[in-house]
Amino acid sequence: MLIDAPSPLLDANDIRALFDLALLAARDWHATCPVQQGFAPWPEDLVYVSREAVQIPGLAHMVHDPGAASEASRALRDAILAVAPFAEWRLTYTEDEVGADFLQRFGWFELAGPEGHFLTDHARITVGFWGANLYYPRHQHEPEELYTIVSGKALFHADGEEDQALGAGATRIHAANQPHAMTTSDSPILTLVYWRGAGLADPPRLTAA
Ligand code: ZN
Repeated sequence: MLIDAPSPLLDANDIRALFDLALLAARDWHATCPVQQGFAPWPEDLVYVSREAVQIPGLAHMVHDPGAASEASRALRDAILAVAPFAEWRLTYTEDEVGADFLQRFGWFELAGPEGHFLTDHARITVGFWGANLYYPRHQHEPEELYTIVSGKALFHADGEEDQALGAGATRIHAANQPHAMTTSDSPILTLVYWRGAGLADPPRLTAA
């Protein structure tokens, strides 16, 4: 699964600077969006920790095509792309759960949170990427969730709601333990996602059939 880092010449300070820039871009994104501000205040207790990069197959897909940004989201998209080779990417699901193709073209990392590149106990802020033509099966988690679309687009599904097609700049909330799913078609999607409430460090789990 692991591939060589594309920029071996960067030292720890350079990498730290890339994470700082990504965090600043995310804070700016939050500061200009009333929905994000209403969902949760920006955490003020953030402490950077050095984490070993974990690279995944989906990283190459993201760098090749992260999806279309809006004027407002371009800075965050590009800051995420710059730091992506150094992030501790996670896949969470098994091939039995989501299939081999999904695991080749999906991934997420925790920018800030209980196990993030920046530690905080007050929020979990993650970056998620899905390639084109993927179905993210119904899943759920205890924390409430706010998706923000940084680039690309997808069709969002949730129990009890109409499907919603969302692109760069759009937001969407999922309630605590509300099963939800997502379908990409001709575009990938890159998201910045907030969790709030109990269970911030828990992984999402697929909803039982
Ligand atoms: Zn979710």
